[in-house]
Amino acid sequence: MRIGVIGAGIMGSGIAQVAAGAGHDVTLIDVARDRAEKGKAGIARALERQVAKGSLDQAAAEALLGRIDPQAETSTLATADAVIEAATENEELKRKILSGLALAPHALLATNTSSISITWLAAATDRPDRFLGLHFFNPVPVMKLVEIIPGLATSAETLATARALVEGLGKTAIVAKDSPSFIVNRVLCPMLNEAIFALGEGVGTVEDIDAGLRLGANHPMGPLALADFVGLDTLHAIMLVMQKATGDPKYRPAPLLSKYVEAGWFGRKSGRGFYDYRGDKPVPTL
Ligand code: NAD
Repeated sequence: MRIGVIGAGIMGSGIAQVAAGAGHDVTLIDVARDRAEKGKAGIARALERQVAKGSLDQAAAEALLGRIDPQAETSTLATADAVIEAATENEELKRKILSGLALAPHALLATNTSSISITWLAAATDRPDRFLGLHFFNPVPVMKLVEIIPGLATSAETLATARALVEGLGKTAIVAKDSPSFIVNRVLCPMLNEAIFALGEGVGTVEDIDAGLRLGANHPMGPLALADFVGLDTLHAIMLVMQKATGDPKYRPAPLLSKYVEAGWFGRKSGRGFYDYRGDKPVPTL
């Protein structure tokens, strides 16, 4: 299959890596060619680490990379059998990208949005029946789950095609209703946001809040480290979508989260969030 991935950031790169690893040809798109190439270079580094550990052989890594074609124009997706949009979590941006595509009639079109209404995004496309949400988790090569979210107009055939695609990538699919943030983020993101409220109110330090949830609730990562990993801009955007979609003030972003986003402190990807990642090991910033 030829798979198009739009957005070569954390998620788009991960999806491209997994799709190419499953033997698909991948076109990886970003706003400019160098951004798409940067995404591919990140994949190359991840594969090098696997080769060094002995979990992947050099020839397989080279073959995988050879199947990823970085591009800047969505016109290069005309021959794709499936396209997964994984650009920045912004409703208007996503609707603009999706409405501007000219895909083959049979092509499946999916979005990796974390929170935005699938039905609303579908309405911007020329194929609401062949459109759905495919919500991958971070880091994509490691995380087993994909949420499949049919919109109001998604056909049963599209759902079946998507399930086969996801399983072919070695992932486990669950189906979620088209409700703000679907299943996992509906539960997870308010918890991460609450940890930031607690930090802002001085209930505990960064280290104590993270140790609390790791050791007291058996979470593999503390909520502040996980928020940094997700991207604070993305978490902020998700909370705003939940607040707007439900009208429920319980979903308002924590003031400290908004401040960090205003400062451009987006977490791991920008080098600083609740931890500083610029040294040898992460150091709490508060
Ligand atoms: P990111 O900031 O790492 O990457 C977004 C990429 O989209 C950037 O490289 C940006 O240049 C690109 N982009 C912006 N406008 C574009 C356009 N018009 N055309 C092509 N590319 C464009 O963000 P991310 O974490 O990869 O998130 C991407 C999507 O995946 C979002 O919808 C997010 O909600 C979702 N998601 C994120 C996570 C996570 O943990 N980060 C998990 C699941 C889903």
